[in-house]
Amino acid sequence: MLPKGVSKRVSAMKRRGFSCRRCGHCCLNLVDAYRGCVSDADLERWRKEGRDDILAWISTLDLGHGNLLHLAWIDPQTQEEVDRCPWLVDVGAQGFLCGINDVKPQFCRDYPENKKHGQDSGCCGFDPPREKTVGSPPKKT
Ligand code: SF4
Ligand code: SF4
Repeated sequence: MLPKGVSKRVSAMKRRGFSCRRCGHCCLNLVDAYRGCVSDADLERWRKEGRDDILAWISTLDLGHGNLLHLAWIDPQTQEEVDRCPWLVDVGAQGFLCGINDVKPQFCRDYPENKKHGQDSGCCGFDPPREKTVGSPPKKT
């Protein structure tokens, strides 16, 4: 096990130069983002924080021998898998936001794991920011 704080530093180093552009691609198009499995730790966190609204979208399969699979996201009304994450919020020109950002699943926090992972899966968060054009360049006299 890594000493306390090291894993966060490693993660920060891997993601140096990353800045989320809020394009929504990962949440909308990467199927394992909205049809994935959340961890025991995620469930524990949501239980502690009284997030029954989130827990309602989890369905746990008992695979036997103590193995539990927590499927996300399952519509609590229909018990069917969703086609889009229920927490994704479209904020128009500003892009997309996660409605449960502070408590979102660990796999969402960890995306993208590094530059290669981001680029291979279509994330633009490592691309250089577009330069803003402010007016015309000054004319030479
Ligand atoms: S694909 Fe990358 S840039 Fe776009 S919302 Fe996801 S993390 Fe942010
Ligand atoms: S929980 Fe948030 S970050 Fe994860 S897929 Fe849904 S909207 Fe995206």
